[in-house]
Amino acid sequence: MEQLKVTKLHDNVYRIQEDSSFMNVDAYLVCGEKAATIIDGLGIAEGLLECVRKITAQPLSMIVTHGHPDHAGKGMQEFMEAGYDIYISFEDLYMLEEMYGKEFKMERFHDLKNGMCFDLGDILLEVKALPGHTRGSMILYMEKEKILFSSDAIGSGGLWMQLKESRPLTEYIESLHKLETFLEKEKIQKIYPGHSWQIVPYKEENQDYLDMEYVQELIDLTNAIIEGKLVGEKIEIQIDIMKGIDIHSVKGKRVVDYCYDAECIHG
Ligand SMILES: [Zn+2]
Repeated sequence: MEQLKVTKLHDNVYRIQEDSSFMNVDAYLVCGEKAATIIDGLGIAEGLLECVRKITAQPLSMIVTHGHPDHAGKGMQEFMEAGYDIYISFEDLYMLEEMYGKEFKMERFHDLKNGMCFDLGDILLEVKALPGHTRGSMILYMEKEKILFSSDAIGSGGLWMQLKESRPLTEYIESLHKLETFLEKEKIQKIYPGHSWQIVPYKEENQDYLDMEYVQELIDLTNAIIEGKLVGEKIEIQIDIMKGIDIHSVKGKRVVDYCYDAECIHG
């Protein structure tokens, strides 16, 4: 039976974790003085809306970082049915249309774009595009606490770049360089990913977030794969959608399972 576990991370910032047979996945609730928003909609767990409503009574919206079912699942469906505004990059919208079919309520959805800003009163959340894992992958920056919510855009120790909707690594490296510049400029210390249970090397040090060291290792690994200096071990993932993909995996110190499609390195 899936459960929701709530952890307060900062003033007005909560992690809501789904612990289920489907996926361990995180959503993040940010509550401002005037409004609140939840980043991502979990997978199969019921009761996300009810859980959020126990924490805040503010006007509420949802931001979905990308179109995968473990982030745009049951919780998002609850928000959709209840009539809340939901923001997702329209580059990924087709995935939701495929997933929900006739139940999909297009009128609830708004296009999430690079540079948009969510004004929650005393808190601003800034949207940054980070295409790679999917074409429409987005991350959110909360300047007030200098924290970033990255969902799957840079993985959570494990990273999936081998999907049919993933971008070539030569395109992804450009996203990563922009991220590196932004992290340095803003002096961001904490990056909260979408599957925090996976960040084992950090957890062993009692840290539940990623940091600059992770991003730099990701850049080094990506460059090495692109330049042919590093070839991952060939692996198979027993899921239907992975059939026929030439999946390889490389391992670093922080990035422990970086999967990519050997036929989709160069754009
Ligand atoms: Zn994903």
